[in-house]
Amino acid sequence: MGSYYIWTVGCQVNVADSGKLAAGLRRLGWEPTDQAEDADFIVLNTCAIRQQAEDKAANKLGAIRFLKEANPAIRVAVMGCTVGPRTEELSERFPFVDVFAQPQRFDKVLSVLDLPDEDSGGEFWPAVFPDEATPFAYVPVVEGCDKFCTYCIVPLRRGRERSRSIDEVRHEVEAHVARGTREVTLLGQTVEAYGKDQPPVEGGTDHADLFDLMSAIHEIEGLQRIRQLTSYPPDMTDRILEGMASLPKVCESFSLPVQAGDDETLERMKRGYTVAEFRERVAKIRSLMPEVGISTDVIVGSPGETDAQFRNTCRLLEELRFDKVHVAAYSERAGTFAARHQPDDVPQEEKMERLHTIEEIQKRIAFEINHELWGRRFEVLVEALKAGREPGVERLTGRTRTAKLVHFDAPQGVYRLGDAVEVEINRTYPWSLRGAIVAQPEPALTR
Ligand code: SF4
Repeated sequence: MGSYYIWTVGCQVNVADSGKLAAGLRRLGWEPTDQAEDADFIVLNTCAIRQQAEDKAANKLGAIRFLKEANPAIRVAVMGCTVGPRTEELSERFPFVDVFAQPQRFDKVLSVLDLPDEDSGGEFWPAVFPDEATPFAYVPVVEGCDKFCTYCIVPLRRGRERSRSIDEVRHEVEAHVARGTREVTLLGQTVEAYGKDQPPVEGGTDHADLFDLMSAIHEIEGLQRIRQLTSYPPDMTDRILEGMASLPKVCESFSLPVQAGDDETLERMKRGYTVAEFRERVAKIRSLMPEVGISTDVIVGSPGETDAQFRNTCRLLEELRFDKVHVAAYSERAGTFAARHQPDDVPQEEKMERLHTIEEIQKRIAFEINHELWGRRFEVLVEALKAGREPGVERLTGRTRTAKLVHFDAPQGVYRLGDAVEVEINRTYPWSLRGAIVAQPEPALTR
């Protein structure tokens, strides 16, 4: 065996996939290394959601080409969303890469290592879970996407929706918790689609859904928080939302992309809902979880978006007042429906102006929302520790159940990653909060 190096860009699904691949390699006797230069096996786990991400991978491959030329025995694999069903173009561009593998084709990644089938075939991968001890873990529960929004490359690269079984997910979460994980985030491109591809549960007519999955892992002792990412309004049934609100460990936090606040734009994007339907789902969530934190995604300058349509999006953001808005200027992705049929006709300057307009709106809204939190107390799970400005003091960072980022100071060495700390907010900013420790709750707070 030898050493491996994994480079990862992109979303939490990619991070989780790289963790699983690393765990599999370690189980097979391979050792990790932090430098590509020291590795016998180099894997790039790539993202194609934007051109920028693809360019990053291409740059990295440029550097790896020199390593491969110097030592042809090195094996190089490229996996993730840049790899489509047809890899001819990639093979021509990067002939020194030994294998291209679509997302989660771990078997294909390892095919260049000439391992006996019995080592890594059959039930090997389903039984491999990321094995690093971390207080926060990402667990993919449904892969792929069936929605085919016109601008999105994901369904073309990650394939159709495929749910893991409840048992498999529960075993993975149990393994994480046994190693000290306190919070899990269940991942899917549209996470409420969980189970839709599965047959009905025995003796019934309905398939298991996200609520059933959350209920199953909710029982795991030691697990304090459950989150989910990313939500898709038409899949968010009342059953799922009401069920989530009834489970104390499920956090009051949603990432719910709207993408546009205009019906014609949503129709061109084939998002599958209207503004009214989106508004209704937000109202439902807020009626069940009044203090919920909701972030959203918006694309500005999508094909055909007029100024009036863009203004409708601004109005919706003012009305719904999200905690956070991730805004991106539209960029065409080759192979999508939009790239073939919807001309990228909003000038780049206009796109950037719209993007800045939304950033300004959201900065004000986020500041106003956060300002309301002044003087309130929250349970914060510590996710980062660093030296403070004074000797003997550490600067801690963590998140509330509603996913607000909170910074606070603590005496050095008292708290560890994953600890639950009660913090009183004494300063507010648009993107974060500052506070002071009140007391460490015991045991973990629940809703
Ligand atoms: S829901 Fe739409 S934007 Fe999201 S991954 Fe699926 S196709 Fe892409």
